[in-house]
Amino acid sequence: MLPLVALVGRPNVGKSTLFNVLTRSRDALVHDEPGVTRDRNYGVCRLDPERPFVLVDTGGIAGSEEGLAGATARQSRAAAEEADLILFVVDGREGASAIDDEILSWLRKVDTPTFLVVNKVDGLDAQAALAEFARYGIKEVLGVSSAHKQGLDALMARTMAVL
Ligand code: GDP
Ligand code: MG
Repeated sequence: MLPLVALVGRPNVGKSTLFNVLTRSRDALVHDEPGVTRDRNYGVCRLDPERPFVLVDTGGIAGSEEGLAGATARQSRAAAEEADLILFVVDGREGASAIDDEILSWLRKVDTPTFLVVNKVDGLDAQAALAEFARYGIKEVLGVSSAHKQGLDALMARTMAVL
């Protein structure tokens, strides 16, 4: 069985964009409207052809436990718990939000290795964007731009070191 990597994060941070670039597929819906991907979506990343892994895109974790948002949040948690590595994706443009803080608090209870992936650093001072999240206490922090394919080599290298 291939190793499993889960993309976790609130809606609109760029999880599906990252999924697409890592799996080179258009399967994951990318949309400006938050929460457009409802279900878990699996794909295979073969950027290192000798070491493929399964990537799961989740619908994003909303703060509310009610209704569809709640079901989506549970799906994300289930995906995170079965994963070998969690990529906790946040938005480097918007900085840390209350929903990110909530996700962090349940991620701390999960025993899965976790990287903090600060997305959308294109055109930003990447160091400043990353510093915003230093208080999260996650050791592995990677600045990327999924849309502009920046920082992906480092992300792949660190991922391969864990899987
Ligand atoms: P998801 O809800 O977390 O899956 O987020 P999406 O992948 O659907 O992306 C949400 C929005 O952010 C879309 O408008 C994307 O084009 C945009 N986006 C995603 N990645 C980047 C990035 O690296 N840089 C910038 N500037 N925008 C991005
Ligand atoms: Mg999505």
